[in-house]
Amino acid sequence: MYIHEPTYDTDELFSANYHIHTNLSRCGGREMTVDAIVRAAEAAGLKEIALTDHIHPYETSKLRRNARILTPLRDAQKTNIHIYLGAELSAHGEHKYTLRYSDFRPEYSLYAHNHYHMFGWEQPEDRSPMSYKNHCKAVLQNMIKTGKADCFAHPFIDKYIVREFEEDYGFTQGCITDLWTDNELGDIMTAAKEKQIAWELNTSAFIPYRDFMRRYFHIGKEVGVCFLIGTDAHRLSEVDPNKYKSYFINNIL
Ligand SMILES: [Zn+2]
Ligand SMILES: [Zn+2]
Repeated sequence: MYIHEPTYDTDELFSANYHIHTNLSRCGGREMTVDAIVRAAEAAGLKEIALTDHIHPYETSKLRRNARILTPLRDAQKTNIHIYLGAELSAHGEHKYTLRYSDFRPEYSLYAHNHYHMFGWEQPEDRSPMSYKNHCKAVLQNMIKTGKADCFAHPFIDKYIVREFEEDYGFTQGCITDLWTDNELGDIMTAAKEKQIAWELNTSAFIPYRDFMRRYFHIGKEVGVCFLIGTDAHRLSEVDPNKYKSYFINNIL
């Protein structure tokens, strides 16, 4: 479900950050306590945030454990910021989802479809860029049909595949992402819109994937999808998305 209606207003988009890791994520900085995150979000003038700790393949039980820890910490906050207790779940193969084995659904289900570097992630049989792109597409299409996602994290971005396999297969940044045609992007974004699944504008992809991000944003806007800003914050200095705002206006918008 959409957590709010689609907007393409830059100020509105950048008034929230829907991808923040607490220190419950192994990769999250120790300083990422709920208190400190909320103070950083207040300092940044944000209206809404989502806490989205990793639920990697076969870690479904962590969902309830994280919620048990985070709920009282969130509820104790005296702030005007709306705080979603979400999770960065895994769509780690065709019909493979971390939520599948749990009836507990977080307030905000952000799904990663491309953490191919993680243990337990399904890989295409043929390790070519086109096979990875087609595998991403099949995973996204199937995930969309389930209607279980609220948003896709860093969609289409190939950095996790490239980093892991650049030496083995000679992959370079963008070699998979850039294979998505405008028509394919339009079709998949239309399908997600019908299920009210949003797409992340991942700020860390703005600079390395500038041309793709521009295409992605413009096609999405034409289709009428909901975009949500996420910085994928692992440190307090990454909670505020506004430092990417002028780059967004000048290079992507
Ligand atoms: Zn991720
Ligand atoms: Zn993340």
